[in-house]
Amino acid sequence: FSAAPVAEPAEDAIKTEEAGPIVTKNSLIWFRNDLRLKDNTALYAASMRSRVGNKYLIGLYILSEEEWADHDEAPRAARKADVAGIVEAVVREMEISHVFWNAELMINEQRRDAAVRKVLSRLSNVHVEECDDQCVVPPRDVRTKTGNPYAVFTPFYNSWCKLVETEPHYLELSESPDANPATAKELFAEYFTKNPPSSHPHPLDDDLMRRRYPAGEQEAHDRLHKFVKERATKYHQGRDSPHQEATSILSPYLNAGIITTRQCIAVARSANKNKITTGDDGLKTWIKELGWREFYRHILANFPRICMGRAFQRKTERVQWSDNEELFQKWCEGKTGFPIVDAGMRQLHAIGYMHNRLRMIVACFLVKDLLINWQWGEKFFMNNLIDGDLASNNGGWQWSASTGTDSQPYFRVFNPLLQSQRFDPKGEYIRRWVPELKQLSDKQIHEPYRALSPKEFAKLGYPKPIVDHAASKKIYMDEFKRVLALS
Ligand code: FAD
Repeated sequence: FSAAPVAEPAEDAIKTEEAGPIVTKNSLIWFRNDLRLKDNTALYAASMRSRVGNKYLIGLYILSEEEWADHDEAPRAARKADVAGIVEAVVREMEISHVFWNAELMINEQRRDAAVRKVLSRLSNVHVEECDDQCVVPPRDVRTKTGNPYAVFTPFYNSWCKLVETEPHYLELSESPDANPATAKELFAEYFTKNPPSSHPHPLDDDLMRRRYPAGEQEAHDRLHKFVKERATKYHQGRDSPHQEATSILSPYLNAGIITTRQCIAVARSANKNKITTGDDGLKTWIKELGWREFYRHILANFPRICMGRAFQRKTERVQWSDNEELFQKWCEGKTGFPIVDAGMRQLHAIGYMHNRLRMIVACFLVKDLLINWQWGEKFFMNNLIDGDLASNNGGWQWSASTGTDSQPYFRVFNPLLQSQRFDPKGEYIRRWVPELKQLSDKQIHEPYRALSPKEFAKLGYPKPIVDHAASKKIYMDEFKRVLALS
């Protein structure tokens, strides 16, 4: 980890060569998107440093509205938090000399951390130590021959794999520190009496959340091990079939920081005889998907303008999007009359998760059939996904909208009917999420409006298609061609 003192070291703070000033009072580990005990670089650094001299290591987690600022429908129950003020108060009250945290990639979070550093720098003998933890390989380490960041996945992944294979420290996991929650409770009793934590409702029912995504590190590790043992070797065959449970559903845990990409790769790699690019087809494909997660994190770190609502390909910002809110609403509610699209959106509403193939289909439909700005969809996903993650979500949306780094070419437009027939041939996924269509045959279910007589269709209580795919595709293609031809 890198040691970065925020104030001049005190005379009694002895500086060791590798580690920075020795901890003289208590230490604080400020958990952010990394609330876990295992493989947490900052926590490990803090616990190693605090072992000297029998000092306390105190954990802090702040659930603040600021973290949700960009998402209109996000919980509003928390009071507006003055994050810097809270950290400062804890540092003062708990006699802290060292504050540890893991660096974050997003601009708002970096600004927040800069503000906290500034406040802490006014206190004497308080040191901040920021660690690299968010990516397996820190973004500054993966560079092209000319020293630039990659903007295309395949060369990025090749280069990333080479680093991971030749420099094993990237995959080293931090040990778990000895935690004594009882002591922490005692220490914090007074603090919590004065500052009771507030609760956050989520758009999804609480019970459902607990059942589907039980909290905690143990659950995340159980899922990982079960997936690798029972399903990972068949992943490459089943990952595009939304009715099968062929994927890991680890994204809610990865994005909440309960488990790390390193830990996932370590388990998969060990099951694959310590290989990541060769060996079992299922395992290496799954590791590559984690590579996409890394890729989008690197893109976010290297091209921060994408956090500011910008398209990666600037030219595409000139597209004249439709502002038809009625169509957007139908898309949001899963009432487009395109069964596969509606099934995806209804899965999202029901369980806060959507299969990856469906994310691509519904995103492409919003942008290329409804000609609605991908940013509307991006925001809707962030507000409704249990695994909402700025980097992967933005990457997925810009890929689907053909505005991003390594996106699909604009002239590739998914045909919802063909996608439905190919990836859900028996209509099992549609039947699960669109009950109005349950009774239809495997053939009828993909396009009931055409497959049934008007009378039969009317009985279903299911909407007519809200657009004509071929006509919409033409409008979209013409608009993209116009924009790309502009100098
Ligand atoms: P698995 O198939 O088991 O894959 C393992 C892990 O690899 C995932 O948990 C995820 O961390 C990573 N991964 C897999 N596919 C991708 C991918 N295409 N891009 C980046 N990482 C990937 N993923 C999110 O985590 N959060 C999002 O907000 C998000 N929004 C998306 C929006 C769109 C429009 C699209 C097309 C994709 C989005 N994805 C997002 C990527 C992907 O759909 C999910 O990561 C995946 O469906 C999660 O399910 P899983 O854990 O079972 O994945």
